[in-house]
Order: sequence, then structure tokens, then C-alpha cells
Amino acid sequence: MIDTQSTIAQAIEAANPAARRSRQATVRWGSRIVTVGGAAPVRVQSMTNTDTVDAIGTAIQIKELAIAGSEMVRITVNTPEAADAVPAIRDQLDRMGVDVPLIGDFHYNGHRLLTEHPAMAQALSKYRINPGNVGKGDKKDRQFAMMIEAAVKYDKVVRIGVNWGSLDQELLAQMMDENALRAEPWDAKQVMYQALVQSALSSADYARELGLNPDNIIISCKVSGVQDLISVYRALAARCDYALHLGLTEAGMGTKGTVASSVALGILAQEGIGDTIRVSLTPQPGESRTQEVVIASEILQSLGLRAFNPSVTACPGCGRTTSTTFQELAKQIDDFLRAQMPVWRSKYPGVENMKVAVMGCIVNGPGESKHADIGISLPGTGEAPAAPVFIDGEKALTLRGENIATEFHALVENYIEKRFGATA
Ligand code: SF4
Repeated sequence: MIDTQSTIAQAIEAANPAARRSRQATVRWGSRIVTVGGAAPVRVQSMTNTDTVDAIGTAIQIKELAIAGSEMVRITVNTPEAADAVPAIRDQLDRMGVDVPLIGDFHYNGHRLLTEHPAMAQALSKYRINPGNVGKGDKKDRQFAMMIEAAVKYDKVVRIGVNWGSLDQELLAQMMDENALRAEPWDAKQVMYQALVQSALSSADYARELGLNPDNIIISCKVSGVQDLISVYRALAARCDYALHLGLTEAGMGTKGTVASSVALGILAQEGIGDTIRVSLTPQPGESRTQEVVIASEILQSLGLRAFNPSVTACPGCGRTTSTTFQELAKQIDDFLRAQMPVWRSKYPGVENMKVAVMGCIVNGPGESKHADIGISLPGTGEAPAAPVFIDGEKALTLRGENIATEFHALVENYIEKRFGATA
């Protein structure tokens, strides 16, 4: 006889291998500490798209991203004016009570900005340095060293962030030449993968020679193809124990960007690869920048790696339900729960693990609702106009009439207060 329970347990364990254990970096601002790697949960981060010189506009967007759940926020630091705006942004955030750590994104002139603008260097909690964009020839090492020296001086974490769009061309050419001499040369893609990893790791070696604590190093090697990203990060994870920043660069817009990021980051996160993630989504016109935070959080929550918001299970609907009532109710409940989370996170500890079900008819409605903490099974076409509500797996009451949505809303709030409130 098959032992079903242990077979299922084995299958679950096989699908969730032990996470890669990396070094742990500590990103700080004031009393706010965000650990990355080690035993820490996978962190969500994001990047602004405002002009950094606009200190108020940038601070407002950072606040929005932080409220949406971004645990670190990266900003572009590309000019002396942007560098001068960074302390003002930090001050503005502190005045607004937003202690999210800021990451400075440097390319080409980071060596000058970090040495000539010490207030900026101190206001940032982490520096992102792209080894492909630090300078050419004999300037490269010198300018990279100037940035690392600033990180050592101010005790900041550094992400050595390689990107295939700006891969060190001298290194790539050298590795292509070496490959051509092999008895059996690799294909060009393999060489490119190795060049990305090599660029990151040799830069990390040099940073350590310059005195940077290895625990203050985070690595990324971003590419824009899903299969390429998976190959590169598997190679990277096998070759080092640094904390890894994971993201599919230039993922694109809308559905394409969301799906590509979810597939790539989901596969790697499931393998325990990636200590902090960013979804690099191009916003649709008029779309909030916070969408990239929502998607990153959903990737981790759907994998069961983190819980950020109560989850709403809703059926897709079919010919058994011809009204949009349950779609509207599911959306209302989802929007309501998300909107409340900034306050509820501290007011109702554990509420992020709650499950709510909103179902369209009797076929799966009662069953799915019983699996949720609180669920409602709305009447499908031809069913009696009654909506049973299930609480903690038991049928609690039946709602009828015009105000089902409002009444269910109140029941959810009441449930949260009772179960997660201070007096619970
Ligand atoms: S629960 Fe009912 S309405 Fe929803 S998809 Fe299933 S059969 Fe269709």
C-alpha cells in the first residue's frame, strides 16, 4: 500500500531544496537594519524613476515604494547636482518617518561623486557599482578603487552589479580570445556567461584586496533573457558565497515583463538562489512605480518564501456565474486588504498570513472557502440567492440580499480584529 502522506512530504521536500546559505550583508540607516543573505528572508527592493535632483519628488516616490513593501530603494546618482540632492532626499524621508535604506546607483563618474560629495556618500546605505562602467584601461582599477575606498571609509555595503548591456568589453574580448585557443571552444553564449561571472568575482576579489569586508559585498549579474539569467545565476551561486541580488534586467512592460520576471526569479528563488530581488518592469503609461514591488512581493509570497499581504483566493468564474458580483467583491477585498497593510503590519501581527476566499458558485465555493480563514461562496446562476460564509473551516452564517459585499467586508474586518488584534 502506498503511504500517501510520506510520498507527498517527500515530493514537497524535493521541490524545496535547502536554500543556498550565503554571507550576510547588513544594510543600515539609523536604527533600521536590513540583513541580506545568510538566514535572512529574501528582500524586496526597487528603484525610483524620478530625476534625483528633484529631491521632494524623489522622496515622495521612495515613500510610496517603501509603503508598498520595498525594503531598500535605489536612486540614480549621475551628476554633481544629483549627488547634492541625496542628503536632502534622506533628510526629507527622515522627516516623513521613512527609514528605508537608500542605494546609490553609480556609472562612469561614481569615483568622483563619492569622493567629492561626502555628505552623499554617508547618506546612502549601499553603493551599486557596475564594473563595466568604471573606466577604461589604466583608469579602471584606479577609479574602482576610489569607490571601494569610500565604501570602506563609511562602512557601506557594495553591490558589484554586472549587466550584460555594459559588460566589461576588454574582459569579454580577452575571454573570447582564450576560448578560441581551446581544443573544443565553448559557444559564444557560454563565454559571455563566464565573462559576466568573472567580471563580478574578480571585482569582488579586488574590492577585498582594497579592504572591503567580504560581508559587505553583494553580487549581481543581470541579463534580459530568462534562460540566460538562470544559467548565469546557477554558475554564480556555485562559484561564490556572496549574497546575491537577483533580477531580470530590462524585463519589459506589462504582462510580458511580469511573466518573464516571475518565471526567471521564481525558478531561481525556488532553488535558493537570490537573497534580494528586484523586478525591473517598465511602467505602463500612468502606472504606479510601485507595481514592481507588488510583483516582487507576489513572487516570493506565491512560492511560500515570504508573506506580505493576506491572500485572496478567487475562482476564475465560468458559465455558472454570469454576473460580475464575485469579481467585484474579490477585487474590493483584495484592494482593501492591501490598502490597510501599512497600518495593519504593526497593529495586527501575523495578518499577512491570512487567507480569504471569494468564490463564484457552489461547485468549489464551499470547499475552497473552508480551506481559507474566512471565505464566501456567492450564488451562481440559478442557485438560491444565498451566500454562505465560512470562518475557520466552519459555516458561520449565510448572507442574503443587496448588501452581501458590505456585510462580508465587515465580517473580514471583524475577523481580523478578533484574531490578530491586541486583545486576541
Ligand atoms: S467555483 Fe463555480 S463559478 Fe467559480 S469557476 Fe468553479 S464552477 Fe465556475
